[in-house]
Amino acid sequence: MIKITFPDGSVREYAAGVTGMEIAESISSRLAQEVLACSVNGVTVELNRPITEDAEFRLFKWEDPEGKHAFWHTSSHLMAEAIQELWPGTQFGIGPAIEQGFYYDVMPPEGVVISESDFARIEQKMMELQQRKENLVRSEISKSDALKFFADHGQNYKNELIEDLEDGTITTYTQGAFVDLCRGPHLLSTAPIKAVKVMAVSSAYWRGDEKRPQMTRVYGVSFPKKKLLDEYLQMIEEAKRRDHRKIGKEMELFMFSELVGKGLPMWLPKGTALRLRLEDFLKKIQKRFGYQQVMTPHIGSKNLYITSGHYAKYGKDSFQPIHTPEEGEEYMLKPMNCPHHCAIYAWKPRSYRDLPLRLAEFGTVYRYEQSGELHGLTRVRGFTQDDAHIFCRPDQVKDEFLRVMDIILIIFKALNFQNYEAQISLRDQVNRDKYIGSDENWERAEQSIIEACQEKGLPARIEYGEAAFYGPKLDFMVKDALGRRWQLGTIQVDYNLPERFGLEYTGADNLKHRPVMIHRAPFGSMERFVAVLIEHTAGRFPLWLMPDQAVVMPISDKFNDYGHEVARQLEMLGVRTTIDDRSEKIGRKIRDNELKHIPYLVIVGEKETAEQTISVRKQGEGEMGSMKVEAFAKIVNDLVDEMTKEF
Ligand SMILES: [Zn+2]
Ligand SMILES: [Zn+2]
Repeated sequence: MIKITFPDGSVREYAAGVTGMEIAESISSRLAQEVLACSVNGVTVELNRPITEDAEFRLFKWEDPEGKHAFWHTSSHLMAEAIQELWPGTQFGIGPAIEQGFYYDVMPPEGVVISESDFARIEQKMMELQQRKENLVRSEISKSDALKFFADHGQNYKNELIEDLEDGTITTYTQGAFVDLCRGPHLLSTAPIKAVKVMAVSSAYWRGDEKRPQMTRVYGVSFPKKKLLDEYLQMIEEAKRRDHRKIGKEMELFMFSELVGKGLPMWLPKGTALRLRLEDFLKKIQKRFGYQQVMTPHIGSKNLYITSGHYAKYGKDSFQPIHTPEEGEEYMLKPMNCPHHCAIYAWKPRSYRDLPLRLAEFGTVYRYEQSGELHGLTRVRGFTQDDAHIFCRPDQVKDEFLRVMDIILIIFKALNFQNYEAQISLRDQVNRDKYIGSDENWERAEQSIIEACQEKGLPARIEYGEAAFYGPKLDFMVKDALGRRWQLGTIQVDYNLPERFGLEYTGADNLKHRPVMIHRAPFGSMERFVAVLIEHTAGRFPLWLMPDQAVVMPISDKFNDYGHEVARQLEMLGVRTTIDDRSEKIGRKIRDNELKHIPYLVIVGEKETAEQTISVRKQGEGEMGSMKVEAFAKIVNDLVDEMTKEF
């Protein structure tokens, strides 16, 4: 008998060789129907793999990421089987599960181009094959047999992958006529795959190498129920509607120009106002938390980045150096602000009493991204980080984490991010040679982060081996209104840069010590954060942040003078107001301004002009009736005061 330990700590005994499916059946037949994969001692495996020793055991259903992963990965095999039937002679690359669904890289036979018009055929063929409810049969074969098998079937890409594997046993999985080189894990059969959708097709270089052939990457998604697919497609539609590039244009927030250059966003007046308001909001909070604002140049000498180690790491992927012939020096565009801040720290002797020193900067940095990777404001070549570096003593790390977490939580609250969790990235538990910094400091910092999360009552997942070589970190994962996950607000401990820059402080013992450096950027970058905020709120920002809070709409040109007077008064009273004095019908003006998500529509006509009042309508809520300008301004200002009283 072997002991199987479940996540809740309970233990059951089974005969050696029991499978995950048998364990599920022993618990309930319903569970056995829903379960997709399992893990044995932390390794996800198929439900038919015999368990021969005592083990920690978990079952995964659709709701679990591991369950979805096995489901989608198996679906990629099913799609490959369909493509093989539709276009015999297709060669296959790799077919992994991804964040939402899966893809397969394929090389169709000469003369065949897989395009959007083939999606329905692929889906149909997948469902036809799925009807056969084929099992995925695992076999272990020798490397030489594998090479021979895939060579016989003309699968050159698979053979290249096998060549790179170590000698020994190789596993293949077969369902129907499709044999794949794979390590698993998969579902036991294709039967649970009840709904599929081919989502997109693009090209991708084999192994990401632009000197290698271009393959066709076919993306798909699949579900255990038709209803889940329908919901997913609806969510995609909603995401398109909320696309920050689309809303950014409608609300006139930012633009790109081919002439200026790809991936270089420019903030339009309304977007700039929004961004400045966000910056002021954070500056105000940071001031309260003891930060000092600094400013540093957009370039730095090559030596700065050689000292920091960034040159060795990012040099060739980064922008080319800027040559200054008279001085014979090389300068580079700043890829990050940290080295400049280290120089500020080193500018004068520091004592333990000066710490923590918290230097903050809205620092614009430049990084080269391939043009194919650029996307709206989320992937750009120039962006501004809401950066700060905290230099502190090792015993201050926990306190500083708590304080940064406070700032991040204030931001989430003010901007209506209600759904978030934390991820703590720690060292590998075994292999510890690759980390810089003393064991003692690492242990203290890791413990500090865990305790800080506990004290804040923040649900946190611990990931071993995910820490950077230079220090542990804490990330916040935020779920937006559509359930998509975004990483916001990283707090990163760094033992490396203080070492490389030789930073010191004089301790109470009168000896020199190395400070700890903490990098943190609650927004990440202004560009990416605004993109996330747009997609989260669909452009309906909180009232205090809205670029325009009200728009005045005269019913006809006759009332434009009074309209301008109202707009001017509202501005004077602190309500950000715009006017729509176009010679358009009022219905058209209402529709157009609703698209811009301006919260209050202020209408003025004959009656309002005569009575010196305004008619107000709140977007999404309806008429508020007619009132004096001052009364309306008070309503808006009171709401804003209420929202912002905590920061
Ligand atoms: Zn596979
Ligand atoms: Zn930094």
